Amino acid sequence: MLEKRVGAVSIWFFKTFLKYDNVLHFVSSRVGGVSKAPYAFLNLGFHVGDDPQNVLQNRKLLASTLGIPLDCFTTAKQIHDGNVKIITEQLKGCVYNALENSWYFNLWEANKAQLLQMGIPAQNIEMAGLCTYCNSDKFFSARHQRGKTGRFGVGIMLKDE
Ligand SMILES: [Zn+2]
Repeated sequence: MLEKRVGAVSIWFFKTFLKYDNVLHFVSSRVGGVSKAPYAFLNLGFHVGDDPQNVLQNRKLLASTLGIPLDCFTTAKQIHDGNVKIITEQLKGCVYNALENSWYFNLWEANKAQLLQMGIPAQNIEMAGLCTYCNSDKFFSARHQRGKTGRFGVGIMLKDE
């Protein structure tokens, strides 16, 4: 991924998508907004307890940074419901025993395996490789802030020819 700074705002891009002129995409970060802790700074989520005026200002800031009118954004809420994916035969390679009797699920590899299984060519799959917990200065991490945190956004659109 590539980080781009526009003023105080930091936005990230997948190299794979940057090759296409008709695809506009972004991954926002927490850097460059007006929200205060624990939502500092570029929180885009209205539902987390942040001051709505700050959230609106952050969304306007992101929209102007990207050059897209705010009313063109359609948002969807990501659900973290503990509904863990069923570990199929294909995904068994993604589960490894790091410590004796401790099992971890490698979500990145699991997602990649599922995409490959659906027929997406390997060269079209780009792993962000950025852990929000380890990079909690750049991204909001519910795990790092024990649940009380902001939300960043991921967006994609096809431009008219
Ligand atoms: Zn990490």
